[in-house]
Amino acid sequence: MIRASNRCEHLSRISWIYQRCNNRPLSTSSRRGAVERRVGEKLPDVPARTRFAPSPTGNLHLGSLRTAIFNYLIAKATGGQFVLRIEDTDQSERTFLYQGHAQELLNTGHAYRCFCSAERLNEMAQSKHAAGLPTGYDKRCREIPGGESESRARNGEPHVVRLKIPNSFTPKFTDLVHGEFKPPKKSKSASILAGEDSILLKSDGLPTYHLANVVDDHEMQITHVIRAQDSAGQKLSKRFGSNDLSSLRESGIFPEALVNYLTLMGWSHKLTDDFLPRETLLNNFDLRFTKGNTQMNPAKLIYLQKRFAESYAREQGQQFEKMVDQLFDELRPIIRTLITGESSHWDMPLGFFERHADIFYDRPRDPKRIPLRRDLICGPIASSLLTFRQEIARIRYEDWNIIEIQKTLNALKQAFNARLVQISHNDVPTAQNSLYQYLRWALYGGRPGPDLASTMYYLGRGKTHERLRLAENKVYDVIDGLEE
Ligand SMILES: [Zn+2]
Repeated sequence: MIRASNRCEHLSRISWIYQRCNNRPLSTSSRRGAVERRVGEKLPDVPARTRFAPSPTGNLHLGSLRTAIFNYLIAKATGGQFVLRIEDTDQSERTFLYQGHAQELLNTGHAYRCFCSAERLNEMAQSKHAAGLPTGYDKRCREIPGGESESRARNGEPHVVRLKIPNSFTPKFTDLVHGEFKPPKKSKSASILAGEDSILLKSDGLPTYHLANVVDDHEMQITHVIRAQDSAGQKLSKRFGSNDLSSLRESGIFPEALVNYLTLMGWSHKLTDDFLPRETLLNNFDLRFTKGNTQMNPAKLIYLQKRFAESYAREQGQQFEKMVDQLFDELRPIIRTLITGESSHWDMPLGFFERHADIFYDRPRDPKRIPLRRDLICGPIASSLLTFRQEIARIRYEDWNIIEIQKTLNALKQAFNARLVQISHNDVPTAQNSLYQYLRWALYGGRPGPDLASTMYYLGRGKTHERLRLAENKVYDVIDGLEE
């Protein structure tokens, strides 16, 4: 729900608030051509100044984060500002400010002191309840004359300050998504706004949430309040531990992926792709919200993780380094344990890696998983297996580096392709990739992995050779099986 200037509107009869809100127009100079692009799409036509005020205690949950994101996007998409408001738990400094505003309301007759004791309020509520009436405050202290109220307060008589809501007042505000909003007459919000005179200052002089929140919004010139329909109660998935941000961060969810994901929960866009990095989001955001409840979808979040990982890997920037660091943190204890256990075999780091490469690069296991057609396995691949291994074995130990390996691979591929043409294989273009497909299966089980030359380099010369031999045997087994 988005309330346009709702503080101003539903208190519009309280003139001082209304005027101050209107007297401080925000500059429109910073808008970024948003108007031309968004006519008819209901984005506010003035720069929005929005805020997010997270609870100062406890962890931030997904529902609140989503609210923050929409506040942020509406501000940025209209060329406005987004304010992060950290509530001060020790409010002594601001208490003065709230009291000042309460006093102003008292002076202008929009608020009054209520001297009713807790006992009296209790008794009143009980007898009203017994009579089947709403238990709200009966407004008795409205009738106390101003002078008497002043002197009783001066004499230190305990009291609260209540908002004097006009008897005929119907609360309403304009919701940018849902239009004009009036709470149903019997609803809780209707009774709070129209039926009861809410407390602004408590008897200890501290403001209630209602007052503090309105004053803070007013002081900060907040123009729009966005309240997302809440899905915070839903669990994202067991896989992510819990729904609070710190545990999602620990499990390695990218902040950008989470923002993207939460935006999709509630906002419907016209783009062809759900992958929305920050810039794309900002350039395309509008108020086309989906109505009704949205469901958590962990698979979608993982999909976005992959898309962001791809882009980070392409950029090789700070985000990529973070991914690497995080993985190292996970690996460190495993590696420590391995080194401790096999310290008597220790020669050099790369030697250690060769001995444990299976952790990273799977061996060629199931020949059924070779991603090649039968006719290629039994035909050109089978007849070239020995050549592949011999050519790779020709690289000398001291030349075992990515560049040399790549050269050999290129030469091998050329020769293999030439041979395919020579034996006039009927599907040459498809078959041409089969060498690399075969090697990928032989060297890391055909799982997704980096390029062949780096894989071979990290596996080491010995291990590469060993795996090619293992793969050969598996292929021969397949061929034998077919011939029997
Ligand atoms: Zn009273």
